Amino acid sequence: MTILNEIMDYNEKFVQEQHYLGYTTSKYPNKRMVILTCMDARLLDLLPKAMNLKNGDAKILRNAGAILTEPFGSMMRSILVAVYELKAEEVLVIGHHDCGMSKLDSEVIQEKMLSRGIKEETLAILNTAGISMKEWLTGFANVEVSVKQSVKVIKNHPLLPKDVPVHGLVIHPDTGKLDVVVNGYGD
Ligand SMILES: [Zn+2]
Repeated sequence: MTILNEIMDYNEKFVQEQHYLGYTTSKYPNKRMVILTCMDARLLDLLPKAMNLKNGDAKILRNAGAILTEPFGSMMRSILVAVYELKAEEVLVIGHHDCGMSKLDSEVIQEKMLSRGIKEETLAILNTAGISMKEWLTGFANVEVSVKQSVKVIKNHPLLPKDVPVHGLVIHPDTGKLDVVVNGYGD
């Protein structure tokens, strides 16, 4: 059975047996916050549980590494939509220890692309078009530094209201322990 079939079979029962009733909520986050965190599968359930977040409590954005590098990319747009349209009042960037992005090597990933049928020519064209594979596919050396950098980009964004606190945290992917790297309240 394929993954998709498995999902669809389960889903049919889920809806039929009304399991959704335990998740009823509105589109506005009950705890008025938007979180940017990593897509790491270990954080799927652990992060909300470790923060006492239930369905409907927060907007959660995920990408590889919880990194916000582009001030006018889709992650920042989502944060602004959460603030202006969905009543989020605080922003939290939550990186984690042992993150895959801390080891990402653009050379290695390009090798893998080539072995999966991407043409060398394609990489060369992108590089000459100004999309540096080296920069675009590079992670970070230190998660605390990376979180601080993303917090800075969000906090200094020209379209973010000045009264929105932006916090930076690091979570342990085994224990769920959180450490504050940037306290967005200012001290
Ligand atoms: Zn990660």
